[in-house]
Amino acid sequence: MNKFQKSVSALNRVGEKTSSQLKKIGITTVRDLLQHYPFRYEDYSQILSIEEFKTKKRGTIKVKVNLIANRRSNRKKMTLTEAIVSDNSGSLQVLWFNQGFLAKNIKPGQQIYLAGTIDDSNHGLQLINPSYEICYSGQAPLHTGRLVPIYSTTSRLTQKQIRFLVSQSLKAIWPLSDWLPSEIKKEYQLIELKTALQQIHFPQNLKTMKQARQRLKFNELFLLQFKNQLLRQRMKKEKAPLIKFQLTETQKLIQSLPFKLTDDQKKASWEIIKDLEKGTKMNRLLEGDVGSGKTIAIVIAILNVVLNGYQVSYMAPTGILAQQQFQNISQLLKKIKIKIGLLTSSKTLINDLSAKKNKEITKNKLYNQIEKGELQIIIGTHSLIEPGKKKKSKKLTFQNLGLIVVDEQHRFGVKQRQNLSKLSNQNNLSPHFLSLTATPIPRSIALTLYSNLDLSVIKEMPAKRKKIITEIVTPEKEKETYQFIKKEIKKGRQAFVICPLIEKSLKSTILLESKNESKSVNEEYKKLSQKIFPQLKVDFIHGKMKEKEKEEIMQNFTSGQTNLLIATTVLEVGIDIPNASLMLIKGAEHFGLAQLHQLRGRVGRGSHQSYCFLFTDNESPKTKKRLSALLKAKDGFELAQKDLELRGPGEILSIKQSGFSNFLKIAEWSDTKLIQETKAAVKKSIKKYPRLTNLIKKDLQESVHLE
Ligand code: ADP
Ligand code: MG
Repeated sequence: MNKFQKSVSALNRVGEKTSSQLKKIGITTVRDLLQHYPFRYEDYSQILSIEEFKTKKRGTIKVKVNLIANRRSNRKKMTLTEAIVSDNSGSLQVLWFNQGFLAKNIKPGQQIYLAGTIDDSNHGLQLINPSYEICYSGQAPLHTGRLVPIYSTTSRLTQKQIRFLVSQSLKAIWPLSDWLPSEIKKEYQLIELKTALQQIHFPQNLKTMKQARQRLKFNELFLLQFKNQLLRQRMKKEKAPLIKFQLTETQKLIQSLPFKLTDDQKKASWEIIKDLEKGTKMNRLLEGDVGSGKTIAIVIAILNVVLNGYQVSYMAPTGILAQQQFQNISQLLKKIKIKIGLLTSSKTLINDLSAKKNKEITKNKLYNQIEKGELQIIIGTHSLIEPGKKKKSKKLTFQNLGLIVVDEQHRFGVKQRQNLSKLSNQNNLSPHFLSLTATPIPRSIALTLYSNLDLSVIKEMPAKRKKIITEIVTPEKEKETYQFIKKEIKKGRQAFVICPLIEKSLKSTILLESKNESKSVNEEYKKLSQKIFPQLKVDFIHGKMKEKEKEEIMQNFTSGQTNLLIATTVLEVGIDIPNASLMLIKGAEHFGLAQLHQLRGRVGRGSHQSYCFLFTDNESPKTKKRLSALLKAKDGFELAQKDLELRGPGEILSIKQSGFSNFLKIAEWSDTKLIQETKAAVKKSIKKYPRLTNLIKKDLQESVHLE
C-alpha cells in the first residue's frame, strides 16, 4: 500500500476518539493530514531572554520553572495554574486558566519554552495562557520558538495534537521520490516535493514557506489540469443516452412560467439540450450568480430526459435544499404524469404527480421503485450515494439513468463526486452529467480549472429585480438599524441574521487571536429574542442540529410563523424564500466577499425592496474597503474581480481562503499567473513525458493520488 494511504489510526496517540474527531474535518489518511495545510502561522520564531521579552511583549522564551501550582478561583469557579519561571536575565509570572493538568505535566526545575504575548494590564507583568513545550536536547520545538502553524480544527482537537500528528506523518512518508520531472522543476524554479511538505507545515522561515507554497500550488494546479485533459479525452468516447428534443412539451413548460426566460437562461438550456442530443456523454458546468435562475434552465433539460424515458438523479448539498427543490421541481413539472422521489437523511417521500399525492415511504420501497423504473426523478442529498448503515439496506440501482444533476457542486467533496460516477445503472450507457455552481469564477479561469467540463454561464439577472440595498452598520448605527428592521417586520417581512460561530468557546484553540470577539448564534439569540425584539418570534438554526429539527425550523420560517431567523452559514446556499427581505450579517469582517455576496443572495428574491446590513465593529480601513466593495459591485463576477485586486501579496501570515475555490486545497483561482504556467506545462508534458502520463492515468483509475 502507498505510504500516503496509511490510516491515521496507525499513528501514535490516535485512538477512536481522535480518529473520529479527525474524520469530522475530513482527515482519515496520512495524505489528508499532510494536505491539511496551515491556514496561517503565528510568528514565535524569536527566542528572547525574559528581559527582552518584557519590552518586546511577544515571542518565545526558554526558561526554567521555579514553581508551579494550581489554585481555585472562587469568584469564577475555575482553576488557575500559576508558575514562576526564570532565566539569566530575570523572572516572570505565568498564569493559565482552566488547564489544571499543566501543574502535573510541567515540573519545577524543568526547562520549557513558552510562547505568547505579555499582558501588562492588571497585576504587573504577566504572561497569560502561553503555549508551552518542554525542552528536550537535540529536538527543535514544534509549538514554540518558530513560525508555528495554525490549522483549522474542531473544538476537541487541539493545535498541538494536529502538529504532533503532522510531524509523525512527515516521518512516515520518508523516503519520498518526486514525481515531477526535474526539467519542469528547473524551468519553474520549484523545490523538491519532500522539502515542500516539510516546509509548508514547519517552515524554517518565511522564504522557505513561500517556496513550499509555490511548489504545492504548482502540484495542485498541474495535476488538476493534467487529469482534466485525460478525463476529457476519455469522456469523448463514452456512449450516453441520446435525448431527442421535445419541442411541444418544452414550449408548454416555458409558457406555464409566471415570467419570461432571460436570454442567458435560454442560451444555457439550449447548450444543454444540444449536448444531450449527441449520444456521447455530456459533462457540463452551469455557472450563474445566486438568484440568476439556474433551476428552470435545468428543469428544461430534466423534462426532456424524462420524456425520452430516462431517469434523473438530482443531488443537493443539504436536506433543506433538497426538499425545496423537490417542491419546486414537482411544481414546475406538475402537468406531466410522473413520480418524483425525495431522499434525505430524515425523509423519504414520493410525489405522484398524476394522482397529485405526496406520501412517505420507506427507503427500501423507494429504491425498489427506482430499480423498476417506476420513479422518474429522485431528488436527494449525499444520502443518495452513500450506502445505508443497516446490513439489509438496499443499494441504489437505477433502471435507466439518463442524467445526474449536482447542485452547488463545490459543496461536495472529491470523493462524493467520484462516488456519483459509480451510481449503478442497468442500462449500459453513461448518464449525462450536469453540475451547477454559483461560484462566479471569471470565464477564462473557469475554462482552465474545469477544463474537463464544458461551460455555460448565466450572467444576466432576471429583469425587474430590485437592487438589494446594502449598508455597513457600525456600533453607533445599530440602534437605528434595529428600529428600521422592526418596522419592516411589522409590515410583514422576515429577516435572517447570520453569525460566524455557533457558540463562543471559552478555550479558544487559537490562543492570542485578535481581541475582536466573534458573534455567536447562541449569544445573538439571547440578545435579539430577549432584549431587542422581545415582541417578535425569533428562532435559530445551525449545522450541528439534527436534520429533522432543521427542517422544522425552516418550515416555520417558510410558512411565515417565525419573523426572524438566526443562523450560521448553513443558510448560505440556494434557499429561496421570497418574503424574507432583510439580511443582517454579524461580524461581517469575518466572512470573505464571495460568501457575503452569497449570503446577501438569500434575500431580494421577491417583489419587496430588500436590505442587507453588514454589522461590524472592526474599523480598520482594510475592512471598510473590503465591505464597501459589496456596496458597489454589480454582481458576483465583478466582486470576484475586486476580491482579487484587494488581496495583495503581503498577506502571507494569514492565508485565508477567499471562498471562491473551495475545491482547491492550496492554490486559488486568483493565482492567474500560475494557472497559465501550469496549463502550458501540462500541454508540454502530455507528449514529452509518457511515464508521467501513465502515472497520472493510473492515479485516475485507482485513485492512488499523487501529491
Ligand atoms: P439560483 O440560480 O440561485 O439557483 P433560482 O433558480 O432558485 O436561482 O431562481 C431564483 C428565483 O428567481 C426563483 O424564485 C425563480 O422562480 C425566479 N426566476 C427564475 N428565472 C426568472 C426570470 N427569468 N424572471 C423572473 N424570475 C425568475
Ligand atoms: Mg439554486
